Amino acid sequence: MFLPGDYHTHSFRCNHADGHLMEYIRVAISLGLPEIGLSGHFPMCLLPPQFHRYAMDISELPNYLSTAKELQENFKSKIQTMVAFEVDFHKPIFSQYKQALKPYLSDLDYLIGSIHGLKWKDHIIPIDSSFTLPDELSRKNNGKDTLQLSYYSDLLELVRSNFYDILGHFDVIKKLGFTTDNEERIWESILRVLDALETSNMAVEINTSGLRKSEKELYPNKRIIKELIERKIPLVIGSDAHRPADVGYAFEPTVHFLKKNGLKSVSKIASHERVQVPLN
Ligand SMILES: [Zn+2]
Ligand SMILES: [Zn+2]
Repeated sequence: MFLPGDYHTHSFRCNHADGHLMEYIRVAISLGLPEIGLSGHFPMCLLPPQFHRYAMDISELPNYLSTAKELQENFKSKIQTMVAFEVDFHKPIFSQYKQALKPYLSDLDYLIGSIHGLKWKDHIIPIDSSFTLPDELSRKNNGKDTLQLSYYSDLLELVRSNFYDILGHFDVIKKLGFTTDNEERIWESILRVLDALETSNMAVEINTSGLRKSEKELYPNKRIIKELIERKIPLVIGSDAHRPADVGYAFEPTVHFLKKNGLKSVSKIASHERVQVPLN
């Protein structure tokens, strides 16, 4: 079975993942993947201090990039290595992020835009790690709906910014295990994101890491994936590996599921240019 490239991996440089870049590349080669994307977190130095430890420091960027480029060259007869970043989208500091990334953009193959924190009152709630919600929000479903609606409204802004090549872990907010009394209202906010994706130049990642976590389902969920395929929104697959052994995690059943639902091709993205590769 043809397995596409893995567009979402981390490494020890992100401070919360294991393994060297080279080990991730070697696993991808052993699986026969055509591409591997090294997508470490772009420094989170513009976010509040609680986030800083989840990414490399800005002073490490030149070394990270030169190492990644060297590996790209060394392994090019075996695999195409993409050099990328997963970049946080946080509206109040978006223009500063854009500015900080500017010098590196032409050296990168793509950017994954992801949301890991939501602004709530005067602080940022981390949504991609274990966190106890403030009392005021956890007491009633209404507060949880507010957070979910705020997440999808930020996601809409991310897509409309037209700055990123790939949308990361579409419905990661589900990690907080929220239920809702108003499923339709949440779905409408998701549909607005899907509408914006249709007219954008972005691809969406099918992120298999949810299968390794308590949710036991892909990001995004099947209902959203079916919409993505029906609307012909370009897709890539990513494992969000935080250790080399997770490269290509569950790619076979995921590709099988995508094909069964009508997906005919996946995207390949290099130097911010996207082409479609048929899924044979
Ligand atoms: Zn992420
Ligand atoms: Zn990630």
